[in-house]
Amino acid sequence: MQLAVADAYFREVLENLRENLGASTVDLWFGKAKVTAFDGETITVAAENEFKKNTVINRYLDRLENMFEHSAKRRLRVVVTSKDEINEEENRIFTNADKPAVKPEPAESDNSFSVYKGYTFENFVVGSSNKVAQSACSAVAANPAVRINPLFLYGPSGLGKTHLLFATANEAKTRNRNINILYVTGEQFTNEIIDAITAKNTAEFREKYRGADLLLVDDIQFIAGKVVVQEEFFHTFDTLYKLQKQIVLTSDKPPKDINPLEERLKTRFEMGLIADIQPPETELRAAIFKQKTQTLGLDIPNEVLNYLAENIKSNVRQIEGAVKKLWALSFITNEKITLDMAKSALVDYFRELKPAITPETILKILEKRYGISKEEMTSKKRTADIVYSRHLAIYLIQEFTDLSLKRIGRLFDRDHSTIISARDNVAKRIKSDSLFNKEVNEIKEEVENR
Ligand code: ADP
Ligand code: MG
Repeated sequence: MQLAVADAYFREVLENLRENLGASTVDLWFGKAKVTAFDGETITVAAENEFKKNTVINRYLDRLENMFEHSAKRRLRVVVTSKDEINEEENRIFTNADKPAVKPEPAESDNSFSVYKGYTFENFVVGSSNKVAQSACSAVAANPAVRINPLFLYGPSGLGKTHLLFATANEAKTRNRNINILYVTGEQFTNEIIDAITAKNTAEFREKYRGADLLLVDDIQFIAGKVVVQEEFFHTFDTLYKLQKQIVLTSDKPPKDINPLEERLKTRFEMGLIADIQPPETELRAAIFKQKTQTLGLDIPNEVLNYLAENIKSNVRQIEGAVKKLWALSFITNEKITLDMAKSALVDYFRELKPAITPETILKILEKRYGISKEEMTSKKRTADIVYSRHLAIYLIQEFTDLSLKRIGRLFDRDHSTIISARDNVAKRIKSDSLFNKEVNEIKEEVENR
């Protein structure tokens, strides 16, 4: 039982880490990590190997301890070991411990088709705010490239766009095992084409994308402002469209508001059906709460469901977070959830709903402060005020996010040595110029209080 409790804490910690660091970083360092022991005071987490263990200890131990404290509501000692150090016995106990309840299983991937099987139409709750998007996806899955092409879904984050894309893919694959489905995010597409160009290997890239029967591009807004990527995407799009292959795109805004984006792409994105997804209305929120609690086998009285539906409004991801939190609580205390329990458990949760810090957050704050737009900061312009903001942006993005130098470089369309020198310039000036130091601290504070 102790181990199961610790496991529930750990799951919550991982969830929080994902919010903070992004899923890929967390999967890299903690993907195969397990809790192997818990005596009420000390929790032992085994990393996948020695190397990951050392990285976790050096980079993430403090954060882990704080997060465990937050989950357990008291300070625990966190010891990190590696799997190589675990003996057979512990291994056996661990594999018998309760498995995570809701982690979607990745589909067995054959390269082209790797989406989460856990996201289906069956477990997507439909209401008036997402009905059009859901039926369009379902029509596309049933008859790709017959009526709706392209299908363009847009709406704020956390409302089920990715879920619908995966559901479309899963359904299309169920109906036709031979269909060639490609799912990418706008960011992956961008990275792949840049890598292909660097490696002088664009033929392979083109062959891959232009061979798709169903191309799903998630968060296409990422290609805004990237000339080469837009060019390549335009040709991919056009080829597939002419071959009567199905294209589905998602974005956080409608085509006309994605800027800067080539006109010819906008026109093409608008050629088929554009469906938006709005934040769920109260009944839909209650229905989603009900579904998520049922999936977890959690029995929550209606008054608690209503309380949740009234208080968590903007986003389905938050609904899931709240439900998981209650699940962990009822698991740990072994009691049914009451309204009072829910209220006190979620006080912290409501407080934590601050958005994560992204490059966008930082660029916006700088734009407000200095009147230099995001486009100017990421442009090639070299007037003094723009360079000043750009360097600050680069420095702050490195301070506050986990993006690699390469990724930051791409954001600013510069190589990584330029990024390093911009960062170092700012760091040097902070040390030598106290006014500048004060200025940077003010901005940092603003970022933290975003
Ligand atoms: P987006 O891509 O729009 O940011 P996601 O598709 O990642 O959002 O959805 C966030 C989470 O909320 C996912 O776990 C998803 O399964 C869940 N979700 C969103 N909308 C619904 C819905 N209508 N019914 C069930 N789950 C939903
Ligand atoms: Mg998404």
